[in-house]
Amino acid sequence: MSTHSRRITAARAYITAQSWRALEGSALLKEILQGPLRGKVAVSSSFGAEAAVLLHLVAEIDPTTPVIFIDTGMLFAETLSYRDTLAQHLGLSNVQTHTPQLQLLSSVDPDGDLHLRDAHGCCQVRKVEPYGQAMRNFDVIITGRKRFHGDARSDLTSAESSGRQIKVNPLANWSAREIEEYFLLKQLPRHPLVDFGYKSIGCAPCTRKLDAGEDVRAGRWCGHAKTECGIHNAPNLEPEKHLVNWS
Ligand code: SF4
Repeated sequence: MSTHSRRITAARAYITAQSWRALEGSALLKEILQGPLRGKVAVSSSFGAEAAVLLHLVAEIDPTTPVIFIDTGMLFAETLSYRDTLAQHLGLSNVQTHTPQLQLLSSVDPDGDLHLRDAHGCCQVRKVEPYGQAMRNFDVIITGRKRFHGDARSDLTSAESSGRQIKVNPLANWSAREIEEYFLLKQLPRHPLVDFGYKSIGCAPCTRKLDAGEDVRAGRWCGHAKTECGIHNAPNLEPEKHLVNWS
């Protein structure tokens, strides 16, 4: 059987996403991780400032769930150490780290400064491409996105179809206060940079700490119109359809 024949259809993805929209949080995760699509589900995590909440909820149900982490080569060292600390703390046994294609990097960003000239292109090669490759065979992708993050996330629902995939956002409706309360209730370890004023943590060159009263994602791509890296914008297509022509 080919890989493609195992994928759900776009029609089924749409209908399933609609049926999941009434659920959220742990109830939604149980439906997914214990339902007929289990085994075709992955969690997307940046191991950032709020990641522990979603990962704790997942680990309580099935700690063997694949957790996909993209190491762009530009992350804070603290994020890499937090990935290992948190995975061990939660008992997550299937954290998968994916990296950009070295050949592509050496071609388009040999000096590691593409982010200064073309942030969209840099995110494409360092995040979107490896993410698309990593997710291409999963039917369901679980993310930690929330509406209170604002901008493109303001209208998030708890489940949405994107081609033959379903993107699930169990925390879409959670507030910043609920996230904080969950951290305290479960005594979850914090990302080391949170204590230094970082509230949303991505690559080091494109993340700054926040001043008092700033929105949670104001420190991302500061000075650029860009607010998202792009991994959640497009369906995760087969590699041959996903690859950008960088020539
Ligand atoms: S966040 Fe910045 S450094 Fe990271 S991939 Fe995007 S542009 Fe490049």
